[in-house]
Amino acid sequence: MSSAPPTTPLPPQVFRQAVEQAALAISITDGKARILYANPAFQRATGYKAEELAGENQSMLSYKMTPKIVYETLWAQLKRQRAWNGLLVNRRKDGSRYLADLTITPVLDEMGNTTHYLGMHRDVTEMHHLERQVHNQKHLIESVVDAAQVAIALLDDSERVVLDNQEYKKLIGDLGREPAQTLLAALRENLGPEFAKAGASGRGFAGHELRFDRPGREPRWFSCAGSWIEELDSSADAFYAPTMRKYLLLVVQDVTAIKANEETIRVNGLRALLAEQERIQSLREALSGAIYQLEGPLNMVAAASRMLERRPDAEQPDFLAAVLHEAMDKGQEVLATLRGCVPDETREAPQSVNLNALLQDVLRLHTPRLLADGVVVEWQPAAALPNLNGRPTQLYSLFKQLVENALDAIHESRGERRELRLTTLAVDDRLEVLIEDSGPGVPEEWRLKVFEPYFTTKGAQQQHIGMGLAMAQDIVMHHGGLINLEPGPGGGCRVRVQFPAV
Ligand code: FAD
Repeated sequence: MSSAPPTTPLPPQVFRQAVEQAALAISITDGKARILYANPAFQRATGYKAEELAGENQSMLSYKMTPKIVYETLWAQLKRQRAWNGLLVNRRKDGSRYLADLTITPVLDEMGNTTHYLGMHRDVTEMHHLERQVHNQKHLIESVVDAAQVAIALLDDSERVVLDNQEYKKLIGDLGREPAQTLLAALRENLGPEFAKAGASGRGFAGHELRFDRPGREPRWFSCAGSWIEELDSSADAFYAPTMRKYLLLVVQDVTAIKANEETIRVNGLRALLAEQERIQSLREALSGAIYQLEGPLNMVAAASRMLERRPDAEQPDFLAAVLHEAMDKGQEVLATLRGCVPDETREAPQSVNLNALLQDVLRLHTPRLLADGVVVEWQPAAALPNLNGRPTQLYSLFKQLVENALDAIHESRGERRELRLTTLAVDDRLEVLIEDSGPGVPEEWRLKVFEPYFTTKGAQQQHIGMGLAMAQDIVMHHGGLINLEPGPGGGCRVRVQFPAV
């Protein structure tokens, strides 16, 4: 059985030696703060010798810049026989100043009366200097970050925002209460496994553009850059076992205006391309029409010539035959010239086409007319529409034609309802586009005839020669699809275009 070692009271000189040898500046005063004892550390800190201190008031150390209220609080606390701790600016014997972290404890006798005060202080000037420097640098960094014209957010390893700026706060309106979460979700979706890889390797990512759609408003575009930063964990646990903490610095630039500009340039380019296509197409149609119309009389001349050859009894057969031959030769020459003038069809290579994006472009091309005619557009895209292997310019021409037909029909009906609905669907192994209008509709007996070349219900004064739907059918067939006209839900016309999915 082990017994506790006997406790022998410490000899009084041990206390004295401990105080004498302590690294902390220690002093003992009377009740009026007159110095009765100051240890060597106190003498080193203040620059005064023991004999210069003896009997002097502690106020000899006071640097008179310290506000009076500090001393009043100190004394009020001591009068209540409570210890006081605080920071005072002290002046050394040589006049230099230092910041003292001072604790004063009242020393009570057996009767509970304060007989002395024990003062202990250490020089914390350097620590204060470092703290201020850190504070100043933090303030400087925050000011620079805040003044930046890009949104900045620093996220800790649990993806909580630990630092952000004014531009970041402006994103709340568009991206919700914590924009970083919305951006990170979109980045993860867009970058896929690359996002995790960029984080693990620490190499980050830059210039990644994200698009956010807003109901009834233009989409917003952001260019995002991310870099992972490591810092040493400053918690007490990590003092002897340093660990790194990872932060993600997210820099986000609103590029909506740049994108809108790019988009305008692109749509204008598309408009010019389609106008050129149309010009070539109408030239082809006009020339083909002229050739077709010329072929009729020429065939008649050929027939007349053959008849004449079989009737030698006719008057002046040689002369007539010669005239007819000459007319035919001239006619064939004109036909050949006309055929030579027919511009070639521009061929483009098939590529992967997203019909939702293409139809949105077609709507954008018609925005001025839709606004001028007061047509309400209902755009109902399929959420996930597989791509189509097709020729984009032809498909643009196809849907431009169909939308223009629908707008003409709406305009013609002059009804109260002026509605255009565009729907895309992914049905089994095919893609469908429905174009529905609130026009007068197409009578049943015309639903096949309208696809015939030169069939038009619009009249020549409107410069329609009836090739629009023939051309549309041609394009759809070249893409292995089908096009039908059906009665629309509100009495108008529904055009159903179907393509095989890739
Ligand atoms: P003072 O006139 O001395 O004091 C300012 C106010 O404090 C007065 O208006 C009064 O209300 C109050 N006050 C002062 N003395 C007393 C008292 N005896 N009883 C009640 N209230 C009083 N000061 C330093 O600047 N640096 C130090 O390192 C320091 N160490 C100290 C250590 C101890 C153990 C003690 C007891 C005091 C210490 N002081 C120190 C405080 C010091 O005694 C002075 O109060 C202080 O320096 C202000 O001096 P002053 O001449 O500017 O004003």
